[in-house]
Amino acid sequence: MKEHGIDYIGMQSEAAKLSVYDLLSRKGFLSVPENQYLVFPGFCDVHVHLREPGFSYKETIRTGTLAAARGGYTTVCAMPNLNPVPDRVETLGQELDIIRRDAVVQVLPYGAITLGEKGEALADLAGMAPHVCGFSDDGRGVQSDDRMCEAMSRARGLGKVIAAHCEDNRLLRGGYIHDGAYARAHGHRGICSESEYGQIARDLELVRRTGCKYHVCHVSAKESVALLRRAKADGLDVTCETGPHYLVLCDEDLQEDGRFKMNPPLRGAEDRAALLEGVRDGTIDMIATDHAPHSAEEKSRGLEHSLFGVVGLETAFPVLYTELVRKSIIGPERLAELLCTAPRRRFGIPPDEGDFTVFEVSRPYSVRPEEFASMGRSTPFAGRQVYGRCVLTVHRGQAVWEDRSVLGPAGN
Ligand SMILES: [Zn+2]
Repeated sequence: MKEHGIDYIGMQSEAAKLSVYDLLSRKGFLSVPENQYLVFPGFCDVHVHLREPGFSYKETIRTGTLAAARGGYTTVCAMPNLNPVPDRVETLGQELDIIRRDAVVQVLPYGAITLGEKGEALADLAGMAPHVCGFSDDGRGVQSDDRMCEAMSRARGLGKVIAAHCEDNRLLRGGYIHDGAYARAHGHRGICSESEYGQIARDLELVRRTGCKYHVCHVSAKESVALLRRAKADGLDVTCETGPHYLVLCDEDLQEDGRFKMNPPLRGAEDRAALLEGVRDGTIDMIATDHAPHSAEEKSRGLEHSLFGVVGLETAFPVLYTELVRKSIIGPERLAELLCTAPRRRFGIPPDEGDFTVFEVSRPYSVRPEEFASMGRSTPFAGRQVYGRCVLTVHRGQAVWEDRSVLGPAGN
């Protein structure tokens, strides 16, 4: 259905479209002439860091979910590198209490794989299973083969996904950007791609043995894409995500600024091309932001000394729409699959008919981090010209984000 400049992407039900249309009419959005709007089901980001409990000077459940709403997301999955780490029912409960009190969109926590994310004793996976979307030690790789094997066996019994941050600590050697041309030219220590794909290769063997539902976080290297393509062809129960920055930037875009530092790092141009191919051919199932806010000071220490991580919830759609859809690399339906359908399917998160988001896509604007709802402001996309401004996000029938600066005063 396309009426009055509105395209409905990936929205199956006619009744839902009609209720969206009705709501937009009442809100006066349709009266803005010559604008084109895209309506999607609410996005689902399976990889965000909301920093609470423990690090509320970086972000809170409140500010992180407001950022999600402003980015078109109605569901986010929160990583467990918190304090306390949600590694048993009691500590998970502290996080769930804050979510219940403060979240403006749906937040599903991950439980840790190991106690304290220390990589040693396993966390209470069975106790946490009813309350979590999956298990992850995100922020670090599980170094012990035996421990990972045991975790996969337990997760398989519980029917839960293991979402793996793949990183072999033996290969890091103090690196902090990609081990490529930029690092060599500017005298930086590099992180080799094998630190990622080596651990993916190990895990794929364990998946073969255990039959675990396995998901790889933030794939960045071309070798990783090739390994995952083969594993899927072999019929393993494997999925993966990459982030918008890995699809749009590479180490040739690096600047001497902490806002270009994240883990895994921006890799080479060939890696970026392989990721785009993976998105096109379905090897890469979904796009997640790895939204990782830090304080301004923590990101002000240049490439070597800033903390790893950039924010992403408020730039993901505009960056992907501008660089992938407008450039005809993928169509809007594929983007809806990557941002909505695939993550929900994989993690067993049912869609809500009362969740949708509306983007105005006819007028360019520049990314202004000072306008973010997130407390984190560090992004490699600052100042970039993009299309796709989120004008409305509705969660369970309630508006959780509305941009009146574009649309003028409300109708009735
Ligand atoms: Zn990670």
